[in-house]
Amino acid sequence: MSTEERTFIAVKPDAVQRGLVAKVISRFETRGYKLVGIKMVQASKELLAQHYAEHVGKPFYPKMESFMSSGPIVAMCWEGKDVVKQGRAMLGATNPCASAPGTIRGDFGIDLGRNVCHGSDSVESAAREIGLWFAKDELVNWTSNQAKWLY
Ligand code: ADP
Ligand code: MG
Repeated sequence: MSTEERTFIAVKPDAVQRGLVAKVISRFETRGYKLVGIKMVQASKELLAQHYAEHVGKPFYPKMESFMSSGPIVAMCWEGKDVVKQGRAMLGATNPCASAPGTIRGDFGIDLGRNVCHGSDSVESAAREIGLWFAKDELVNWTSNQAKWLY
């Protein structure tokens, strides 16, 4: 399993407004994952339609699009062993009411529409989403001194 696997994690507008950015970052940092890209984005409808291509046309899409463009998002790329699958586990179930306590959504969210964060659902989705949200030169290859204690 590659220690260079990457995933796309986004802190959604509700969580930015509620001051939860540092808490989300902290979960990934303390788990041992490495931050290789981060920026604030005011997402356009075009970017959201690409990001959520599988959901465009569904009944909830217009409301979600308006929520996701209602304020800044913190877009992040995290790297490390099994980070795609583990990232989803750390986020919890899509509906925060079904997310276990201890997960990000289970600890900080309560509503399906405002579920705090996004995480890629597969290695393929991660590559696609990272490419959508980040230019190549916005991702930084660096060596963490922690790595020798983690792996
Ligand atoms: P996930 O974010 O866990 O990958 P999905 O890809 O199924 O979940 O959905 C994308 C996002 O759309 C969810 O995180 C949630 O915010 C929103 N969403 C999904 N289903 C609904 C719904 N039925 N009503 C409102 N919002 C929804
Ligand atoms: Mg999804």
